Amino acid sequence: MKRIDLHIHTTASDGTVSPSGIVSLAVQQHLAAVAITDHDTVNGFSEAYEAGKKAGLEVIPGIELSTRYKGHVHILGYYIDPENPELIQELKNFVADRDIRNEKIVSFMRQDGIPITYEQMKDRFGEVVGRPHFAEILVENGLASDPTDAFNRYLNRGCEYYFPRTTIPLSRSIELIIHAGGIPVIAHPFEYRYEEKSLSELIETCMSFGVRGIECRHPSHSPGQMVYLEHLAEEYGLLKTGGSDFHGDVKPGISLGSGRGLVSVPFQWLEKLKDERGLKS
Ligand code: AMP
Ligand code: ZN
Ligand code: FE
Ligand code: FE
Repeated sequence: MKRIDLHIHTTASDGTVSPSGIVSLAVQQHLAAVAITDHDTVNGFSEAYEAGKKAGLEVIPGIELSTRYKGHVHILGYYIDPENPELIQELKNFVADRDIRNEKIVSFMRQDGIPITYEQMKDRFGEVVGRPHFAEILVENGLASDPTDAFNRYLNRGCEYYFPRTTIPLSRSIELIIHAGGIPVIAHPFEYRYEEKSLSELIETCMSFGVRGIECRHPSHSPGQMVYLEHLAEEYGLLKTGGSDFHGDVKPGISLGSGRGLVSVPFQWLEKLKDERGLKS
């Protein structure tokens, strides 16, 4: 069976593998297609697309947006036009907002004697600096044993270096993806720890704004939850997607194409996504 991975982060956001590195890994894993879904940026796509062309691997443009809805919800967008002016402008705003949040984290770390500046971090990690990068700095300075330890002790909500980012409303993120020609999909629904009733409410709310799919297969879901979400998608007439949410070393134990070993996404799901968009596969 041909397999794909529709949820991948690269060095363009907070992953540790470059876009072309992702293509090499995908070829090694015999994947038939990958989608690049960095947080708040489409900058990784063109490198991955070019590398994919050379390697004979299909690379799909995507994005993952953090939104505000009873806490937080992530929305994935597939086949967005990476050059859409409205999208590019909004992404610039997100990065500016991240910068404000990140400066606060840096200033707290500096007060605790960690010798970093935000300028150094931008030089090293690029435009989109995220908490996983701070985790790396904490590990390097001996304050945490690995990235997970850094999150647990310093970066998770409620910890010393946790500062929220301003996120956009759920409706706006879905609208933005649609305006950029993309297909909006609810990311990893079980990560939000909703009860069954609130989960249906979330799906119905997202659908009222134009969402067209559910990410059923994701490493944060148990096998039972994945099956349940597939039933829900069918019931609601929504597309099914899935992916590893690969970030490289910063999320240890997650492999491209399979997550923690349980995520397997069939190529047919991509064909349905293409049909929805009117693309011929
Ligand atoms: P940010 O958008 O900068 O607030 O950072 C969010 C990123 O941190 C996402 O990529 C998450 O996958 C990652 N993240 C959140 N919690 C953890 C955790 N406990 N361990 C590793 N990565 C995490
Ligand atoms: Zn991330
Ligand atoms: Fe996410
Ligand atoms: Fe993600």
